[in-house]
Amino acid sequence: MDTKGFIDLEDRHGAHNYHPLDVVIHRAEGVWVYDVDGKKYLDCLAAYSAVNQGHCHPRIVAALQQQASTLALTSRAFRNDRLGPYCAMLSDLTGMDRVLPMNTGAEAVETAIKAARKWGYTVKGIEKDTAEIIVFDQNFHGRTTTIVGFSTDPQSRDGFGPFTPGFRVVKYNDLSAVREAMNDRTCAVIIEPIQGEGGIIIPDEGYLRDVWDLCRERNVLFIADEIQSGLGRTGKMFCYQWDGIEPDGVIIGKALSGGMYPVSAFVAREEVMNVFTPGDHGSTYGGNPLACAVAIEALAVLTEDKLVERSAELGPYFLERLRSIRSDRVKEVRGKGLWIAVVLDRAARTDCEALKERGMLCKETHENIIRIAPPLVITREEVDWAAEQLRSVLETPADDNV
Ligand SMILES: *Cc1c(COP(=O)(O)O)cnc(C)c1O
Repeated sequence: MDTKGFIDLEDRHGAHNYHPLDVVIHRAEGVWVYDVDGKKYLDCLAAYSAVNQGHCHPRIVAALQQQASTLALTSRAFRNDRLGPYCAMLSDLTGMDRVLPMNTGAEAVETAIKAARKWGYTVKGIEKDTAEIIVFDQNFHGRTTTIVGFSTDPQSRDGFGPFTPGFRVVKYNDLSAVREAMNDRTCAVIIEPIQGEGGIIIPDEGYLRDVWDLCRERNVLFIADEIQSGLGRTGKMFCYQWDGIEPDGVIIGKALSGGMYPVSAFVAREEVMNVFTPGDHGSTYGGNPLACAVAIEALAVLTEDKLVERSAELGPYFLERLRSIRSDRVKEVRGKGLWIAVVLDRAARTDCEALKERGMLCKETHENIIRIAPPLVITREEVDWAAEQLRSVLETPADDNV
């Protein structure tokens, strides 16, 4: 079947809840993906930062294969010999006391919400069923009905109500907005250290620390959603480390499995996680041995291949190269680590299509932003190549790129 055949089949039988670029990928290796015609592309999305370790990393593939043929699923009704080592490794890495394993990012966010609320009632002493969680405009925390209920993106919400109460949405990067929203019923702040889907919005220096200070002062949990910003993307293992703060809980997903399998986790301090007792919360697949084995290897690759360091080194280099592009339609280039936004004064789709023709896959976000987030295994030469493609496309008049 050719490209058109695959696209027609998917469009005829699949739900239309995405608008993908029309490239049909067949295989991948490292930063490169290959379509059904064998044409290769540099992947500058990395599955929304789920494949920070690069596609089909041989060590992670081997761990998956090995574990799949040994033991894949027991459910948490029984113990398995991968869960303990995995929790130990993740709590070491995060400096957190305990790990609650889930599968998708949204589930880990839901877990954080449940933990925060129950902590609010049992530890802080908030009156039953009145707890509030502070979240931010332009947030993205996933797609469940509770989570989209506190989204500020109309398309994420419209048609899906009624929504769960108990969330206060305040302006991002505005400390006084957080202060004003806090009251005796506030149990937690859930925040993205950099808003990814919001368009790689980087708050002012000191903002996160100020929010964290405020949380400690008012006995409110500070929970960082590091699903996209974590695991090396910004040049630190976790983005909150740029601010030298210690959250009460951290939500992790995406690259936790190196793109091999859905693996997520909520990790937290003892006092927070201890609100859960047997039967309170769970997941059939959460913490299964296959997921644990894959995540152990994915984390080992991240540290042993020094991918966080690479992101810290190549990110600023990439940024500098992109800032030297002279194009009348580029309004701003910003980023942290290998997470870069090229903000245009118009819709970015045409330029993304032009980049695709040149062998580089980027997906626009918020219409006018080209997001660049390659696997962290990218080399300096590949960064040079990518920067040149962007230069050619963006320095060509928009109309000529159609
Ligand atoms: C992707 C993402 C999620 C949701 O993860 P899923 O695995 O798609 O459910 C939540 N929070 C942030 C910050 C994300 O980027």
